[in-house]
Amino acid sequence: MQFNKVLDDVKIYEAGKPIELVVREYGVDAKDIIKLASNENPYGTSPKVTKKVQEIAKNMFMYPDDSMFELKEALANKFKVESSNIIMGSGSDQILEFAIHAKCDKNSKLLMSNVTFAMYEIYGKQTGATIIRTEDDEHNLDQFRKLYKEHKPDMVFLCLPNNPLGECLDTKDVYEFLEEIDEKTLVVVDGAYHEYAAFKDEKKKIVVDELISKFPNVIYLGTFSKAYALGGMRVGYGIAKKEIIQNLYKLRPPFNITTLSLAAAVEALKDEEFVVDCIRKNFEQMKRYEEYAKTKGFSFIESYTNFIAIKFDKMYNSSEVAQNLLQEGIIVRDLTSYKVNAIRITIGSDEQNTKVLKVLDEVLKKLK
Ligand SMILES: *Cc1c(COP(=O)(O)O)cnc(C)c1O
Repeated sequence: MQFNKVLDDVKIYEAGKPIELVVREYGVDAKDIIKLASNENPYGTSPKVTKKVQEIAKNMFMYPDDSMFELKEALANKFKVESSNIIMGSGSDQILEFAIHAKCDKNSKLLMSNVTFAMYEIYGKQTGATIIRTEDDEHNLDQFRKLYKEHKPDMVFLCLPNNPLGECLDTKDVYEFLEEIDEKTLVVVDGAYHEYAAFKDEKKKIVVDELISKFPNVIYLGTFSKAYALGGMRVGYGIAKKEIIQNLYKLRPPFNITTLSLAAAVEALKDEEFVVDCIRKNFEQMKRYEEYAKTKGFSFIESYTNFIAIKFDKMYNSSEVAQNLLQEGIIVRDLTSYKVNAIRITIGSDEQNTKVLKVLDEVLKKLK
C-alpha cells in the first residue's frame, strides 16, 4: 500500500522503556524496577493534585471545557500574558506538532542543534522539510548563526536547557542571537526543563512575557510533565503572540486536554512549593552522579535539568552499560541513537540513586 512519500524518511519515536516491559522481558519484580529514563519527577505528584483528580473523576462522562478557561487564566497570570497568547496541547509535544505543521511544507528548512530533542526532526520530516544540524552536539550559537545565514531556515529550535545532554545557553546570548533572526522565521524556545535551569542559575532564566514581546517570531513551550510531575496527564502549552497562536489553533483537535488533566494542571500551579522542593532535591542528588563520574574519570555535561548525561568516551560502550543495567531492573536512556556514547540518567530519589550508583558500579566492573 502506498503511503505519503514523506513518511519513508520518518523514524518512529522510541520512548523510554516502560516498567511493564522490563517485568515481561527480564522477569524483574515490578517493585524492584527503577525507571530513570524519561525525566519524570521521582517524587510523584503533589498530594493536593492527586486529591483534586479523585474529586473530579465523577465528571468524566462529560466532555472537558474546550476553552480551557481556568487553566489558561492561571497560566496567563503566572506568565503575565493574555489567555489569547496561550495554546494548550496534549503535552508540549503536541504544540511542537502544531507549530511545525502550521509553518512547514516540503520546501521548508529546520535548524537545530546536532544532539537535541528527537521530535523536532520527526515532526519536521512529516511535512517533508529538510533538517539542518549544527556540527557541535551541544548548542553552539556561532554555528547556528552561520547556518542561519547560509540556509535561511523557516524554523529554528532552541532547547533551553537541552534534552538529552542537559546544557543551557545564557539568556543574554539567546537574546543577542534572536536579534539577528528575521521575523519570517519561527523560533521555538523549548522550556520543558526551564524551571530547573532558572532555579540553578539566574543567567538562564527566561521571562516569557519579555521574550515574546521583544521577539514576536518566538513561541515558548512549557510542560507539566517534568518539574510539575504530571507526565501521565499530558499537558503542555505554547505562549506566543496572538497571530501565531491563532494559526496553531487551526490544527488543534477539539477537547485535546482531558477533564482530569485540566484539573490536575490547575491544582499543580497552586502548589509551587512542592515543585521548588523537588527541584532543590534534584540538584542535591545530581551531585552524587557528578562525584561518581569524576572518580571514574568519565566526562559529563553540566546539567541544568533533572537528568545527567554521562559520557564513556573510549572506556565503555553505552549500549552495553544500559543493557546490563536493564537486566538489573534499572532503566536509563542510552544515547547511541543520538550518536553519543553516553547514558542519560534521570535524577531519582535519594534511595533510587543509592541503588543505581551501586548497580552501575557493579556493571562497570563486570564489563571491564
Ligand atoms: C519532555 C519534553 C517535551 C515535552 O514533553 P510533553 O510530555 O509532551 O509535554 C518537550 N521538549 C523536550 C525537550 C522534552 O524533554
